[in-house]
Amino acid sequence: MARYTGAQCKLCRREGLKLYLKGDRCYTGKCAIDRRSYPPGQHGQSRRKVSEYGLQLRAKQRARRIYGVLERQFRNYFKEAARQPGVTGDNLLRLLERRLDNVVYRLGLAVSRTEARQLVNHGHFEVNGRKVNIPSYLVRVGDEITVRERSKQSAKLKDLIERASEKTPPAWLEYDAEQVKGRVVALPNREQIDVPVEEHLIVERYSR
Ligand code: SF4
Repeated sequence: MARYTGAQCKLCRREGLKLYLKGDRCYTGKCAIDRRSYPPGQHGQSRRKVSEYGLQLRAKQRARRIYGVLERQFRNYFKEAARQPGVTGDNLLRLLERRLDNVVYRLGLAVSRTEARQLVNHGHFEVNGRKVNIPSYLVRVGDEITVRERSKQSAKLKDLIERASEKTPPAWLEYDAEQVKGRVVALPNREQIDVPVEEHLIVERYSR
């Protein structure tokens, strides 16, 4: 499955804000945004006027990078969002939030979406009792997400499970720390999705 393999911190610097792609490192003084808060590249420090197109592009890229989705897949999410009833921008973010890797991250069972994606890929999670190793799997209301029994023995998962027990997931998810079980109680509304994205700009960009 294709994914971005370049430098993660460059993405944050390009967007001009922390996207928290590297887990714990993002909260330390080593964060590249804290040290060099200008875009990467030769002209990173020169001032440039951003056009309307540029704003729309940035909004789209930012959303893609937060959720770790490549261009073609992102466009497919947009098409699906536009097909659904309701506000297209809200639908788009809701679809992205429903990805299994995002849900694992939201439950606190990974320190970043990148890590969540890798853990899902490696088959550490089950949805409704069945192994799912597809990060883009879309959860539904009522779905139960659990860590596979054999995965619970790994030191990494043990640590993540311990950390998850100290976190509170967003209101549309429930987490039972004793059973190490997450549940989707509702689909998220826009207020429950705390990503710094102006989705109307994404809609404008794809409507050109
Ligand atoms: Fe972004 Fe984290 Fe890198 Fe900071 S450390 S620039 S938040 S990925």
